[in-house]
Parts: sequence; structure tokens; C-alpha cells
Amino acid sequence: MSKADGQLFSDASHRLTTALEHVDLPDDVLETLKYPKAQLGVSIPVRMDNGELKIFPGYRVRYDDTRGPAKGGVRYHPGVSFDEVQSLAFWMTFKCAALNLPFGGGKGGITVDPKALSRMELERLSRGYVDAIADFIGPDVDILAPDVYTNPMIMGWMMDQYSIIKRQICRGVVTGKPLAIGGSVGRDTATGMGAFFVIEAMKPKLNLNPAQTTVAVQGFGNAGAVVAELLDQAGYKVVAVSDSQGGIYAPQGLDITSIRKQKEASRAMKAVYCEGSVCSLIEHETITNDQLLTLDVDLLIPAALENQITADNATQIQANYIFEVANGPVTSAADAILEQKGVTVFPDILVNAGGVTVSYFEWVQNRSGLYWTEAEVHRQLRQKMVEETETIWLIAQTKQVSVRTAAYAHALNRIGEAVTAQGTRDYYVNHRI
Ligand code: GLU
Repeated sequence: MSKADGQLFSDASHRLTTALEHVDLPDDVLETLKYPKAQLGVSIPVRMDNGELKIFPGYRVRYDDTRGPAKGGVRYHPGVSFDEVQSLAFWMTFKCAALNLPFGGGKGGITVDPKALSRMELERLSRGYVDAIADFIGPDVDILAPDVYTNPMIMGWMMDQYSIIKRQICRGVVTGKPLAIGGSVGRDTATGMGAFFVIEAMKPKLNLNPAQTTVAVQGFGNAGAVVAELLDQAGYKVVAVSDSQGGIYAPQGLDITSIRKQKEASRAMKAVYCEGSVCSLIEHETITNDQLLTLDVDLLIPAALENQITADNATQIQANYIFEVANGPVTSAADAILEQKGVTVFPDILVNAGGVTVSYFEWVQNRSGLYWTEAEVHRQLRQKMVEETETIWLIAQTKQVSVRTAAYAHALNRIGEAVTAQGTRDYYVNHRI
């Protein structure tokens, strides 16, 4: 769901302005971070199965690469716009810095309904996208990854296409690849698991007792389904889940593992709940996505798209805590309302950073040629997520600011240090007569 052109980005960069009040950084840093470093728009020609030629608009934005190569996913969605891709690249910049990954921020996207394409059409589109942006990316320049409606299979095609163009195997240009061609174990579940580690790190601080903590999860894709299942297994009461078709609600709690199995088999949440074995296993009520967001639960986890909680519905939110597993699900106008209501929002740039963190591990493994065990990936992911969550929470407490502002301030300090280290400002300031 994209707002009118430019609005999403101006909303996103508003967070930067707020955080700047709480850090002491030279003007150069703000000046650098106000603008994307490079933007590319392409038209991708695809020969469809029926012989027709179709052109799809594609984008790649490298927002900032002061701390390292740009890093970020590629989204396939009918709503993809330049504004959205740029906002997502902006968020990636702060996400990578918040987690102290040696990356800047980038993002890509194609305006397409991938569900309407055949597998061959999808492959031609993915390879065509890489052909069009090949000069703009690279393992030390800008690294691709999965995002909404892109998956390991698509990442495999992209890595292969880039390697064909370069006439050498280039594993590190794409993360989230299939294991057989250089993917990392644990990358597929990393976003959901990272979010789970954030919630677990916050459990003692928020006095959460899992058995008495109710949870609603909007979005049952790669991230939402995994975090829902991990919370269910850890004893939390996941009472509502949804996908783009709608959702279900059962006050006594849902059996997420069987729902995941059903969803994988049927590929649509509504079908799961109107027929099939889950209906006989649990009592449930069908709800809309909007209803899910305003349920009376303890934890609300938006794990779908941006702009879900806005000034229109923020007053109706009943949850005590929101953990943003999607990118940008809460607008800045909604943030202000939620803060007044006493709802604590844990921001996307921390909560969903597990995905890019394991992408970083994958990139490291590709470069060293030494592959880690699943236990090692989980151990290092947990360590990073817990450490940064605790630091950000401490900043929020000490400075008496929202967790989002604390996360941005924390990231900004790291980016600021890099901008300063790279720049010429000190020379001019120190030598001015
Ligand atoms: N698309 C994911 C995100 O928004 C992952 C990015 C990556 O792994 O580079 O964080």
C-alpha cells in the first residue's frame, strides 16, 4: 500500500529529523543522509508465454554506503513505486547501522503481480532485472536479497544471471540463495527468529508472562508465520493471524504449527479456515485485517506491508506493545497518537533486522568459503539481536525517548562516525582562518 508519490519517503525521513534532536553530530551527517546516493529506474522487457512482449518497471536505490556496500532486498508487488523503494532503502541504511553490520542501505523492486506470472515468465523477469541493473550492483557495491514475494529460487536466478554477465561465479552479490548454491542455513527463518529474540530480550523488562500474553500477527508470510510459530512454541497465546485474504481469531489461542502446514498446502489463509482439518481442530472466528489490528491483545505484530497503522486507526489500537516485523507498518502520525496512548512501538529497523543479519552471515560465508552450522547461525543471530535490543532500550530509558527514536539515534551515531571519518569537514573547520 503506497501513499501518493514522495509521501512515504517524507514520512520515513521525518524519523531522522526527530532522532537528530537527540544526537550531537556535525551538519555534514544530516546533509549526507537527507538524499539517496544513487537511484536507478529501468524498464524490463519480458517475452510472455503467449508470445506477447510486456515491459515491467523496475528500480534500485542505493541510499547510503558510507558504512559498507549497500544491502537490501528486491520486492515484487503490484504496489511497488519509486517512493516505496527509496523509503525501504532509507530504512535499510538505519537497520544495518542499528545492528552494526558493515553495510549501507539499498533496495530494489519491480511493479508486478508475481502471482499472475508463470514460473518461466518469473524467471525471465528476474534475469531481465539483473541484466538491467548489473552495472549498479556487485558483492562490494550493492547486494540483493529477498523481500515481499521474492524467495530463494528467485535469488538463485539473480545470482546466476549476474555470474553469467561477469563470466565468473559471484555468490556474494545476492543473499537468501538456495543452500545448494551458497545460501546460509537459517536465512529463511531469520527475520521471524530475529523478531522472536527481540521479544524474548524484552520479556523480563516488560514483565511478560508468556502463558498470559496474547498476540495478534498480521501477515503470514516468511516473517509473520515464523515469529507466530516461535511465540506459540514458547508458550505465548497467539490468538489471531491473517494473510492478504483475511484472518482468524480464537481467544483460547491458535495451533500455529498446523496452520502453517495448512497454509503451505493451500496457499491461502481463508481456504484454511473455511475447510480442511484446522477448522475441526479449533474454534475460530473469521476477521478482517483491519479488525485484527484493533484486537484487545498484549502484543500486536504487523508483519505485512507498510502504512497499516495510521492516524485513521491508531486511536483504536488496544495492544500494549507493537513489534514491527514489516517495514514501515506504523506511520509517524500514528506514532504520535500511540505514544500518547502509552503504546510502546518496537521499530522495524530493530525488530525485523534478523533477516539482513543472517544475510550478512551468508555474505561472510560466501567470501570465506567456510559454511556455518545452523546452531552457529542461531547463536550469532541471538547474540546480535539481544545486544542491540538492550542497548537501544537503555538509550530509550536514559534519554526518555521512544524506542524508535532511540534506535535511530543509535544508528545515526554509527553512520555519523563513518561520515565524519570519511569526510573533509575537520580539515576545513580546523584550518579556517
Ligand atoms: N528484505 C529484508 C529486509 O527488509 C532483508 C534484506 C536483506 O537480507 O538484505 O530487511
